[in-house]
Amino acid sequence: MPRETPHQTVPQPVEQTAQSAALFERALAVTPGGVNSPVRAFDAVGGTPRFIASARGAWLTDVDGNEYVDLICSWGPMLLGHAHPEVEAAVRAAVGRGTSYGTPTRPEVELAEEIVARAPVERVRFVSSGTEATMSAIRLARGFTGRDVVVKFAGCYHGHVDSLLASAGSGLATFAVPGTPGVPVSSTELTLVLPYNDRAAVGAAFAEHGDRIACLITEAAPGNMGVVPPGPGFNQFLAETCRSHGALFVSDEVMTGFRASRLGQWGIDGAHEGWRPDLVTFGKVMGGGFPAAAFGGRADVMHHLAPEGPVYQAGTLSGNPVATTAGLATLRLATDEVYDHLTKTGDVLKTAVSDALSLAGVAHVVQSTGTMFSVFFTDPSRLASSHLGASAPLVRDFDDARRTDVAAYAAFFHAMLDRGVHLPPSAYEAWFLSAAHDDRAVQTVLDALPEAARAAAAAQEKPAS
Ligand SMILES: *Cc1c(COP(=O)(O)O)cnc(C)c1O
Repeated sequence: MPRETPHQTVPQPVEQTAQSAALFERALAVTPGGVNSPVRAFDAVGGTPRFIASARGAWLTDVDGNEYVDLICSWGPMLLGHAHPEVEAAVRAAVGRGTSYGTPTRPEVELAEEIVARAPVERVRFVSSGTEATMSAIRLARGFTGRDVVVKFAGCYHGHVDSLLASAGSGLATFAVPGTPGVPVSSTELTLVLPYNDRAAVGAAFAEHGDRIACLITEAAPGNMGVVPPGPGFNQFLAETCRSHGALFVSDEVMTGFRASRLGQWGIDGAHEGWRPDLVTFGKVMGGGFPAAAFGGRADVMHHLAPEGPVYQAGTLSGNPVATTAGLATLRLATDEVYDHLTKTGDVLKTAVSDALSLAGVAHVVQSTGTMFSVFFTDPSRLASSHLGASAPLVRDFDDARRTDVAAYAAFFHAMLDRGVHLPPSAYEAWFLSAAHDDRAVQTVLDALPEAARAAAAAQEKPAS
């Protein structure tokens, strides 16, 4: 029997998942883990992943016909919601003109112009995934500086680049795997991994290795260990430290770009603090739901790329006309009103989640940067008191983030899923909204929260006595 609560209006409780289960069985026979990216497998929350057949606006429909409010939004890209009519029309028209030529095209010029107009970059080059963007940015930083060492932060994820899998990120954090087999020691022995938001650690690393450091790469605001905003002035400090040591500051905005704000995380801190990154990586929103990503930055640095310069980088589908058309349509529709809507809707949800969890007695921390937020199932009283001052985040680095109660989250996740809300199937992720998350979608989330909070309470780790 469907479970009824008095205020439940939409949608029907999820009862039937046979088609998803059957597809998962078939997938397991032909694909490792049955998925093409690990976090989709539900390993962190248990159960069977839902196979989605279609999506429109804020809603996903699975192969059994169940509907879910989508709080994944393809892990960020679907800023406007699914199947936005104007994006869809632009893509259909582009497909009708042929899908790939291996020559330069108009949409890639226009998308590059749009990115240069909005982001702190003078030149951009397109690639097909965020991983390719960070990999290429690091090669360029090494080629430009003639140095080899790369600095990154624990818990920051930059895609599955060998040299950057020196520490755990979102998927890895969940599975508690230190690095990964298959990456040679020689790929990571030139990578320094530091705790996030820790100026002293950054200062010490540059004091010791400064003249060997090609670049420091950081998520502009980490979103892959949950949302951990940079402490006040932290990105500026990183930019200045890099400059004073002749290293490049690489700001990874694959997740935050055109998502945290209209100008990305840089619009939140850089624009008014007055620093600019040397290189920036983009992906997710700028691809409009297609495999498109980019890296860009200072003209004198980008000038080192082939064919202008000696640093080689290429791609058969780079700047693909369909993908860049989708990205261009998305960015042109990503107006201030979209970000205002995300802010307002996010505020409603953050408050409601926090209230529901408090009422059920579930310790938690909600953190945000711009329009991005996440919920840590973490007892704030068990976090080390911050040396960063009152405005610093409570969960300030990967060690803090890992204290999240994954069992409580798993129970919460499934209770929400059963009530038609599809959260990310991992406790270490941002919850993504879109311009299409309207009152009906929000109400569905609000209706599901009380029961889910009680489920989380029942599953909570008991504090050690
Ligand atoms: C998603 C992400 C990447 C990797 O992008 P892919 O397209 O998945 O390769 C890199 N950096 C950050 C910050 C990301 O969030």
